[in-house]
Amino acid sequence: MDMIDPFGRTINYLRVSVTDRCDFRCTYCMAENMTFLPKKDLLSLEELDRLCTVFIENGVRRLRLTGGEPLVRKNIMHLVRELSRHLASGALEELTLTTNGSQLSRFAAELADCGIKRINVSLDTLDADKFHQITRWGHIDKVLAGIDAAQAAGIKVKINAVALKDFNDIEIPHMLRWAHGRGMDMTVIETMPMGEIDADRTDQYLPLSLLRAQLAQQFTLADIPFKTGGPARYVEVAETGGRLGFITPMTHNFCESCNRVRLTCTGTLYMCLGQEDAADLRKPLRASEGNELLSAAIDEAIGRKPKGHDFIIDRRTSRPAVSRHMSVTGG
Ligand code: SAM
Repeated sequence: MDMIDPFGRTINYLRVSVTDRCDFRCTYCMAENMTFLPKKDLLSLEELDRLCTVFIENGVRRLRLTGGEPLVRKNIMHLVRELSRHLASGALEELTLTTNGSQLSRFAAELADCGIKRINVSLDTLDADKFHQITRWGHIDKVLAGIDAAQAAGIKVKINAVALKDFNDIEIPHMLRWAHGRGMDMTVIETMPMGEIDADRTDQYLPLSLLRAQLAQQFTLADIPFKTGGPARYVEVAETGGRLGFITPMTHNFCESCNRVRLTCTGTLYMCLGQEDAADLRKPLRASEGNELLSAAIDEAIGRKPKGHDFIIDRRTSRPAVSRHMSVTGG
């Protein structure tokens, strides 16, 4: 069974934010003093599993766990292990994860054992001081050890970096050589106006068209049709032999090929990362033991998936496009 939205797009990719909590406080993502959801409002791991399973029965082929930091959710490996049965049955093509890497040393081997073949690790700088500055609470050694552990376990790692003006723009060539030298693809991402943060986003925002032009001065970048199911457009870098992806929610809207919806840890379904409209799936989930109500609510929600987002970052638009932080809906 396929889920098709009003614009004819097949929805086969679910991202699940399993917690809104994180052990980092990246300055472009969160304010330092965040109020998190009371634990009692969270869906249990069993409820998350049931919800994911209904999505899979309705046509989801790829599932990404994210957050907050997915690996800080208590007993998260129980959910991963349960969900991996859908890989074994062939219902799910891919189960993957977006993580800040801080807990990977602990979990990499088990993730691999559950059939996780590739993960995204968010890493905005290789400089230890800058890393601590941007994450407020993070230590790069732990993340680098986590990446080592993931690779040792046979998991393919992609590095995701948010491109930040006057922060990591000059470092991206070095990061690219480092990532490609270790056999890892890399993706750069434009910062999006989501949730109130302490900094001014206009100061941080770097259009990737500019970054690409800068990179083209020292690398030969060739567009390639490579796709991973997400919104990145890839180039091959001749000098390193690796791939570099660009995720450009600001300068190039990619919504026409959107195949995703996003579930939060309270059972709220967002049909678009950049819109406020949402569907409550917790109520139909808890209303009966059967899945009919839930399936109908999912259908109804897909039926109102919007055409796309309209993010703006400029000095006249001081409010974020959506009030919730990225950590609520997940990356
Ligand atoms: N904690 C995990 C991690 O660090 O990857 C998963 C959640 S995090 C919210 C997912 C991704 O969103 C990270 O790569 C992060 O850098 C990115 N992100 C957070 N806020 C963002 C924003 N306002 N604009 C663009 N990317 C953002």
